[in-house]
Amino acid sequence: MSTPDLHQLGVAELAARIRNQQVSAVEAAQHFLQRAKAQQALGAFLAMDEDVTLAQARAQDAAVAAGTAGPLAGVPIGHKDVFVTRDFPTSAASRMLQGYRSPFDATVVARLADAGCVTLGKLSCDEFAMGNGNESTAVPPVGASTAQPALNPWDTSRVPGGSSGGSAAAVAARLVAAATGTDTGGSIRQPAAFCGITGIKPTYGRASRYGMIAYASSLDQAGVMAHSAQDCALLLSLVCGPDGARDATSLDVPEENFTRALGNGIEGLRIGIPTEFFGEGLHDDVRAALDAALKEYEKLGATLVPVQLPHSPLAVPAYYIISPAEASSNLSRLDGVRYGYRAPEYTDLNDMYKKTRSQAFGEEVQRRIMIGTYVLSEGYYDAYYLKAQKIRRLIANDFQAAFQQCDVIAGPVAPSVAWKLGTLSDPVSNYLADVFTLPASLAGLPAMSLPAGSGAEGLPVGLQLIGNYFQEGRLLQAAHRLQLATDFHLRAPATR
Ligand code: GLN
Repeated sequence: MSTPDLHQLGVAELAARIRNQQVSAVEAAQHFLQRAKAQQALGAFLAMDEDVTLAQARAQDAAVAAGTAGPLAGVPIGHKDVFVTRDFPTSAASRMLQGYRSPFDATVVARLADAGCVTLGKLSCDEFAMGNGNESTAVPPVGASTAQPALNPWDTSRVPGGSSGGSAAAVAARLVAAATGTDTGGSIRQPAAFCGITGIKPTYGRASRYGMIAYASSLDQAGVMAHSAQDCALLLSLVCGPDGARDATSLDVPEENFTRALGNGIEGLRIGIPTEFFGEGLHDDVRAALDAALKEYEKLGATLVPVQLPHSPLAVPAYYIISPAEASSNLSRLDGVRYGYRAPEYTDLNDMYKKTRSQAFGEEVQRRIMIGTYVLSEGYYDAYYLKAQKIRRLIANDFQAAFQQCDVIAGPVAPSVAWKLGTLSDPVSNYLADVFTLPASLAGLPAMSLPAGSGAEGLPVGLQLIGNYFQEGRLLQAAHRLQLATDFHLRAPATR
């Protein structure tokens, strides 16, 4: 294969070619940089720095030559702009942090760099990861002078999904071989579904949150996005692992090689189909694609078992109380004093806080800070926040009951295919579109999205697989087996 086709390779193949010195890390970096520049109009990157990328690539070539290279030496990836990085600015797509430089790398970034990955740049997202269409981004992408969302490479009049929309768009358009994302309530799974790629969030606590700008700390989880379950397995094995004192919620669970289980078949796998996930609200085109994908699973020897998640319809109201409550607390540190934006003019300290926060936080972020402050206030705490926490427990219990009858749960990721830019702007309808991803998030379960064919207008549909705690290997194995038997994950947008 010649250099012009490097972007068609998966992570594993690309790493092998670089390790065998068939292609250098610098050539790979240049190839992807060129593609990223040529497709700047997609708005996937919020920061790039060619010199930094090429210096990282040269270091990987030296490591390969010296025989000290890590497993993914020279593989070009991008990071969602909520992971802090020393070598690139980090904004969380907010005016509040625009131009901010972190003195250290997030653990997830450091772990992938240790494995040899080369950073191509920082990827667009919703402001502070709040959103599901990338439309609340407030920082201009590379090459643009005003803020604009990343676009869906399958149809640039549509959203790429969110909040990790830049990550999904960049992977789908093959501007990077893979990307990191974060998932608080669906932000890896839903953009992966909308852009026709594979993405996974592990069990809450399995990947360190150190250096990940906090949105809702009890829900935030890092994960990876790539073309195949195999690539995701490689990357996730590197990303997950205990992080000691750096993240108090990092679990002391040993690292695991998720690629090991991929070879096994799935005969006898019991796939739970929650009645609540296939009812009203699911668009017919999505349902038809999912039905066809589930039939493939039956052909592979799996059995479909109906299960119930009776409290899952309450996930939307519970999540949209808990996550703003945590966000209002997390974002209180951004007050113009310590770092980030400060209003240029003010009369006294209170006025400075007020002007700084009204000028630098976007509308959606302000809305959530207000909701969060309200539900935590005296008198409303019991009525809203505490009740939402109780619902969260019931949702987690539902899953445990369901996992008595099945090994994994399958369902839709989103009710529809990617919508047109600007069409889901009222907050309530927007929040309702998260109905299928929120239950696993509230329960802290590992979950993924994998391509499952096409819906309306030939747009990608994602199949969601949810596993019990620490069952990432099983999810990836189930996804890999489908990908061996079908070509859903190989379908590509015309622009590629
Ligand atoms: N759409 C959800 C929200 O806006 C999920 C976002 C996320 O997972 N970061 O909160």
